Amino acid sequence: MSAICVYCASGPVEQRFLDLAADLGAALATAGHTVVSGGGNISMMGALAESARAAGGTTVGIIPRALMEREVADLGADELVVTETMRERKRLMDDRADGFITLPGGIGTLEELFETWTAGYLGMHDKPVVLLDPFEFYAPLLGWLSDLRGQGFVSRNALDRLLVAESVPMAIRFATAR
Ligand code: AMP
Repeated sequence: MSAICVYCASGPVEQRFLDLAADLGAALATAGHTVVSGGGNISMMGALAESARAAGGTTVGIIPRALMEREVADLGADELVVTETMRERKRLMDDRADGFITLPGGIGTLEELFETWTAGYLGMHDKPVVLLDPFEFYAPLLGWLSDLRGQGFVSRNALDRLLVAESVPMAIRFATAR
């Protein structure tokens, strides 16, 4: 069984995105995987963690002290780790995970996606980096990156390091295959 770190939105978003996070949380839990997340209990982060626990799963939340109020610290987490800095949060989330799945999100999510993706591409870890994108939320970004490849800014190896999944089962399969 694996620990899967999930990056997703912390802001108010449409119901279908909350449902996607909940579906992923439940599916990870049902398959026996631990969910590692940013330790908030709002928006998609909250939907993910609540649903994983409702399905009998284990959740690990890692949150900076300064964000405990703003992101509504997930006090129901099986393990809630409070860090002093954002960098420590990210390092612990990375260390605790065997694989990463990114869902739709804002700049925080994008930053986390790019950091784990880049580190993987540079050989600093060999964990799967998965983008779960059933709604083609990321199509403009992926289109732009493909364009950058044509211009020489991004290599095929870099693009290939990101595994794009269209469904929850596909994302879990990608994230747990090593
Ligand atoms: P967002 O995608 O902007 O809704 O943010 C999603 C999550 O990413 C939230 O838990 C934020 O606290 C977190 N986040 C925001 N900025 C950063 C950052 N620079 N590094 C890591 N995580 C961040």
